Amino acid sequence: MGKVMAIANQKGGVGKTTTAVNLSAFLAQAGKQVLLVDIDPQGNATSGLGIDRLRIEHCIYDVIINGVPIAGVIIATGVPLLDLAPATIELAGAEVELVTAIAREQKLKKALKEVKDNYDYIIIDCPPSLGLLTINALTAADGVLIPIQCEYYALEGLGQLMNTIQLVTRHLNPRLKVEGVVLTMYDPRTNLSMQVVDEVKNHFPEKVFKSIIPRNVRLSEAPSYGQPISLYDPRSRGAEAYQELAREVMNNG
Ligand code: ADP
Ligand code: MG
Repeated sequence: MGKVMAIANQKGGVGKTTTAVNLSAFLAQAGKQVLLVDIDPQGNATSGLGIDRLRIEHCIYDVIINGVPIAGVIIATGVPLLDLAPATIELAGAEVELVTAIAREQKLKKALKEVKDNYDYIIIDCPPSLGLLTINALTAADGVLIPIQCEYYALEGLGQLMNTIQLVTRHLNPRLKVEGVVLTMYDPRTNLSMQVVDEVKNHFPEKVFKSIIPRNVRLSEAPSYGQPISLYDPRSRGAEAYQELAREVMNNG
């Protein structure tokens, strides 16, 4: 049965999508069958894999709101073994529509049940909020992976995130574990980056992945070519770091 991992942090621009796409790609490259689920209305994971959002007929919105089986929206990507459940801007309405839905926190979990056996890993790219879409991801997940950007105020908002994770664990999904914290956009030339690494390691002892993702321009270029870094520039430092992260994730089980 596949392991479900949510990539979550309510802050925008911390590297959630970059991590979701490239971790998924390297897990697939290692021979794992992977499903990437895009639940951000921005659809950056979808477009970052070269999928034209305007040509998508059914997306994860239809699954969460209209009960369409997820198998009906899953598409293949340019990466062997990597499938995608895409998002379109239609998903922007889901947050509000979910409010009055029955079992509103369990929609994604229920949908994923039908395909869980087909995959080794299911990675969910969350939107930058702690609304019902992110709650759905946390309710469906076995683990949550938290990207933290090596920047000022890195730890800001983390209390709120940890509170939400604790509430979900208590009331909706007792299986949920913090899989780990991934430090992103690390710049070895700045004291600040090093300080943030220390601070985060103190805050989450034993939970920080050894692989630290450097700030690397190739990582930011790859989405505009519709490719994960494993295809766009497999020799870049960004690629090496995400490959190493994938190894750690696989070692965690
Ligand atoms: P989020 O999904 O949390 O909003 P993204 O993954 O979209 O964050 O990253 C925000 C921006 O930073 C994007 O333009 C992305 O290409 C860029 N970016 C992310 N990680 C890196 C990195 N390690 N090095 C350079 N640019 C990065
Ligand atoms: Mg994103």
